[in-house]
This record gives sequence, C-alpha cells and structure tokens, in this order.
Amino acid sequence: MVENGGAVREALGEPHPDATAAVLFVNFTGSPVQGGGENATSIPPLSSIAGNAAQIPSFNPTINAPKVSAPDAQDAVFDRLRTFYLPYNLTLTRTRPASGSYTMILVGGSHTAIGEPTGVAGVSPLDCGNGNPSNVVFDFSDDQSPDYGGVVSVAITGAHESGHSYGLQHTDDPTDIMFSVDPATLTQTLPQLFTLGFGSSGTFSSFNADGQVLPVSCSRPTSGVNSGLLAAALGTKTVPPSPTLGWDFPPATSQMVPLSIPLHFTPSAGSRVEVYKNLELIAVLKSAPYATTVTAADKEGFYLTAEAIDANAARSTSTRTYVAEAKTPALCSDSSMCPSGRTCKDAFCRLPLGSACKSTLDCLTSFCKAVPGAPGLTCTQVCDASNPCSADGTCTGGLCVPTSVPDGGMSQLKNQGDACADGTECVSGRCQDVCVPGCDDQTPCATGTCQDVSGGLGCAGAMTTPPASGCAVAGRAPAPFAWGLALLLFGVALRNGRRERGVARDVA
Ligand SMILES: [Zn+2]
Repeated sequence: MVENGGAVREALGEPHPDATAAVLFVNFTGSPVQGGGENATSIPPLSSIAGNAAQIPSFNPTINAPKVSAPDAQDAVFDRLRTFYLPYNLTLTRTRPASGSYTMILVGGSHTAIGEPTGVAGVSPLDCGNGNPSNVVFDFSDDQSPDYGGVVSVAITGAHESGHSYGLQHTDDPTDIMFSVDPATLTQTLPQLFTLGFGSSGTFSSFNADGQVLPVSCSRPTSGVNSGLLAAALGTKTVPPSPTLGWDFPPATSQMVPLSIPLHFTPSAGSRVEVYKNLELIAVLKSAPYATTVTAADKEGFYLTAEAIDANAARSTSTRTYVAEAKTPALCSDSSMCPSGRTCKDAFCRLPLGSACKSTLDCLTSFCKAVPGAPGLTCTQVCDASNPCSADGTCTGGLCVPTSVPDGGMSQLKNQGDACADGTECVSGRCQDVCVPGCDDQTPCATGTCQDVSGGLGCAGAMTTPPASGCAVAGRAPAPFAWGLALLLFGVALRNGRRERGVARDVA
C-alpha cells in the first residue's frame, strides 16, 4: 500500500497453511455423474461407484429439517462438516473450485439415484493411501429424515464417506465418525451423535451396510488410527476456541415440563444457536433474545440439544432430557410469567395452600394430596404440634386442611368414577366413560387393565363405584417420570436402530 506519498512495504511471510490445504467441495446443488473413472474435477464428474451415467438431485432440506429455512438447514450440514474437520488442514467449500484437485461430497437424492440397496445412507470408495485427491462420495440426504437423523445424520454421513476417501476404515468406537457396527450389537446414543469426531481409540470393524464383511484392506494397524491417519493425509491446524453457550431457561434442574416449553439462551458474540428436539433441527436463533418455544405431547420423553456455532464453525453443545406432561404447570423465572393466582417458585407457577392441584409441582406447599373434607387433590403440607399450619389451614390427621378452599382453577375437576367425556375433566387426567386412575409400567392397575384411554394410560374398567378419595392418583406421583425415562431410552434405541447411522456401504 502507499501512504503519504511514500512506499510502505510488508515483508513476505510464511506460506499460509491454507495455501496448501486439500479442498473438500460439498455439493448441495446436484450433478450428473458417470462411470469410467474416479475424478471429481471432470465434467461431468467420474465415479467408480456410479457405474452408469446418473443424475444426483440437489439437496432437499424440506426432508431433513422441515421446521427451519432451506439456507439454515444447509448451513447446519455444512458447518457441522466444518466442525468435524477443524483439526485438519482442509478447506471446505460449497462452490466448485475452478481449478486444482478436490474431493466432492454429493449431498442429495436417495440410495436409488445410483442403484444402491435400501438402507444405505452413503457410499464412498475406500482410498487406502489417499492416493486419489479427487474422489467422489455420495451422501443420500433424501433418506435421512429427522427420524433417521436429519441434518445431523447428513453431516455425519458426509464426514464418514469423505473419511473413507482419505483412507479411513470403520471402527467400533461409538464416539468416532467412522463408527460402523451391527446395530443389533451396539448403537450410538444421541449425545454421542452430537459430539462425534475422528477418534483414535477404536478398533477396526468389519461391518458394512450391504452385508459384506469388510477385510482389513489397507495394510495398517487395526486400532487407534483414524485421527492419526487423517492428520497424515491432510495435515493439521490449530483448533480455534469454542464459543460459549448459556442455557438460561428452563433451569437445568427442570426435567419435568409442560407441553409448551419456552427456551432462552445466551451464546457468545458472533455465534448462532441451533436447537434440536431429538435429532430434528427445530430452530436457528441468530439474534437476541435467542428465544424459542418447543412443544411436546403428553407423556413424551425427549432430548433437547442446543449448540452455539461461531464463524469458524467452532461449537459448544449441550444436551438435556425432558419429560412433558399435560398436568405440569407452566414454567417461569418470575411470577409475571404466571397466570393469575399463581406464584413462581423453583421454576414452576404454583398455587397456595388449599388450592386444588394435579401435581406437587402445582403447589407452593410440599404436597398435592387428598385431604379430609376437600374434593380431589389439594396443595397441603405435613403438620403437628411443633409444625403448625398457617392461618389458612388447620392440622387434621397430620396434614394442613384449608379452612377455605380457594378455586385454583381445578376445583371443578371430577373424581374417579364420575362420568366424563375427556381426560381433561378428571383429577387423574384419565377418562374412559368415567374418570379412572392413571397407570404405567411402574404403577400397575389395582383393578382393570392399563391401556390407552382419553388423556393417556389409564386403568380401563377399574371404576364401578366412586372411590372414597383420590388417593390412588396421589400414590402414583413419582411414577410418570420413571415411565417417561424408560420411554425416552427405548425411543432413542429404536431411532438409532432404524436410522442406520454407520452402515454406509463401502466399495473397496
Ligand atoms: Zn463406511
């Protein structure tokens, strides 16, 4: 540059590490491919896997992340790939390079595009010594709906297949991107899927999606090699620091939630926040107040994962588990968030002593139980001579019984045995012609059969005469959480088993 008429010269520095970086072209726009070679830079690209001429369609994000915009879904895939390759000297681009060699991931279409069998999420040549710098690998995004991993899986598959093109083989380490093991033997957990990397602790796995048993074909040790092999193939870079992510609301202690859950985050400056329910990207938050709301079904157990991602594609990931129940009161950080008559305490909008309640979370007091003289369940607390009730209650049978029962909005709910048309009419939340007790795998029915009734699982046929009180309901207070957690774990196992992560077919 020239300043004030004088010449100012800068010294020539060392070559920038990116100057010699290998290039990975992530192609979201579709491309023809044809057989007869293996060269991403040819026009059209040549693929040893495609065999015949084929057309790979463009990435269709409405399949993988229907709740966010198309650019946000594509960014989610591309930036997760960038994160995976942060430790390595590799330049990722979404634009076809004008010259030079590059590996290409074709993100789009389904396994049928090049005649692969059902269940194959991606396919790549296994380029043992990374001898070809311009491989073509396939990532069949149309097969990876949210139930099969969504944009998270699309990114993992792209990293996995490009990993093969750099010489990596399958491993049995579930924290490694190159994980591929019979899902009947071992599946990855959801938190593992969000924190994968190219690892160094696995042992070679011969499992492959198409039923072949893959041999160790690259003449190398059978354990602990992937990150080292990749470093040798690509070179390394210093990993930039991760952004920070404050998960401000709900509080970390709140696992029981109502059916509508407000979320607030504070990421470090320059970062966006991606929010996932299980493996579905449901929101991308780019500016203050970094807030959204997630909804859930009654009795639904699920994961929420929030990630802060900065311009470098460095990220911070936080996963929490929740169980939603219709009877859980609204979440709050202060009482201004609560309906009239309720007060915010320990993150829930609660009712005072003597109020009709559905759950202990409804109460400012210690319990939601049946008390003498009050219909249904009542916010109460234990009492004795040394722990007297407040002026609002009298101590009867060891529980504070309200002197007057304020209408907490639920005093009109029906007791077991009362005729009903819907679970919402009942204290128990369960209705089959009459209000019946709730049940689950931790709390079997004393009488009747535990099955789906209006409002959830209830003891069908249990009620012939009204019970003396709602104690059968009060007794199951802790059970829904255990039931929900069991469902949660089962749901994830099922999901992972179906989505077939790590079973991408390889062609050696
Ligand atoms: Zn593979």
